[in-house]
Amino acid sequence: MARVYNFSAGPAVLPEDVLKEAAAEMLDYKGCGMSVMEMSHRSPMFAQIIEEAEADLRELMNIPDNYKVLFLQGGASQQFSAIPMNLMKNKVADFIITGQWAKKAYQEASRYGKTNIIASSEDKTFSYIPDCSDLEVSEDADYVYICENNTIYGTKYKTLPNTKGKLLVADLSSCILSEPVNVSDYDVLYFGVQKNVGPAGVVVSIIREDLITDDVLEGTPTMLKWKTQADAKSLYNTPPCYGIYICGKVFKWLKAQGGLEAMKEKNEEKAKILYDFLDQSEMFKGTVVKEDRSMMNVPFITGNDDLDAKFVKESKAAGFENLKGHRTVGGMRASIYNAMPKEGVVKLVEFMKKFEADNK
Ligand SMILES: *Cc1c(COP(=O)(O)O)cnc(C)c1O
Repeated sequence: MARVYNFSAGPAVLPEDVLKEAAAEMLDYKGCGMSVMEMSHRSPMFAQIIEEAEADLRELMNIPDNYKVLFLQGGASQQFSAIPMNLMKNKVADFIITGQWAKKAYQEASRYGKTNIIASSEDKTFSYIPDCSDLEVSEDADYVYICENNTIYGTKYKTLPNTKGKLLVADLSSCILSEPVNVSDYDVLYFGVQKNVGPAGVVVSIIREDLITDDVLEGTPTMLKWKTQADAKSLYNTPPCYGIYICGKVFKWLKAQGGLEAMKEKNEEKAKILYDFLDQSEMFKGTVVKEDRSMMNVPFITGNDDLDAKFVKESKAAGFENLKGHRTVGGMRASIYNAMPKEGVVKLVEFMKKFEADNK
């Protein structure tokens, strides 16, 4: 068996220990004679799985008691609709557009109310995060929306926007659990798990309790109403049981790694290895402004499309998978999530050095 170094942006690499444990439990989960995929979501076995997953996530992120944690389906994109449906009381929302995911959320919300773009970095192909310290937040905005880490472009907010008292709603899909966050700085934060946590199909929303009400937009589907899910403890219908089980294992793995402070240190170290190389290379260049660089998604280019293609092809042959940049951006992108070992980044840089020398 040969595992590759998988730099995919998502679905992405998972910790090998977690995969091995899941494999060992596949036929007989803890003596119950069946796999987690085959058991009732109402069984005591599964109740323990989802309750422990929530408890471990709460511990890792230090989630205050007045926030609910919901394990939902439909991916992050489903929340693009759920958010306006649950939060638009005035039918107004402000958006900061820093990439395609923020834009898609904006487009979806625009179907339900008046949406304003109060800042954007589209003028420079989303290669930076706009200054959000003093924006013209709409007086009647129900919330201000951001995508905190821009998976495709490789930028990340280093300070959250000043929302001037309005609610802050944030998509943390590609930076969640990579470092500690202060949950009470947000009113709603959510993440599709397939970037840095688990298998696609699960989205976790962490929502301040008082925002979960019956006062939702008319026509909101029962399933998209947060209150339905909160009242049923994420078991209104059959949840994505197996995905939640793997997420729970990843939470335990993160705790065993020393929690989010320790992950931050490891991630900073990995990112530094790659960015330091890019900064001195004559062939490879990072594509975003230094101050706004993401620790998780690192796009880079040679400036020559043929050379980019050659690099992607040869890197794949050498055991580095999924380094091709997003189809809308081109070039390369290395996603170096929690489960990417430091060794993978070190070896990638060695490979890049050699490629640069060979293709001078
Ligand atoms: C991948 C991604 C999404 C979309 O996730 P789906 O689960 O496919 O809907 C949304 N936001 C961010 C930041 C992402 O990286």
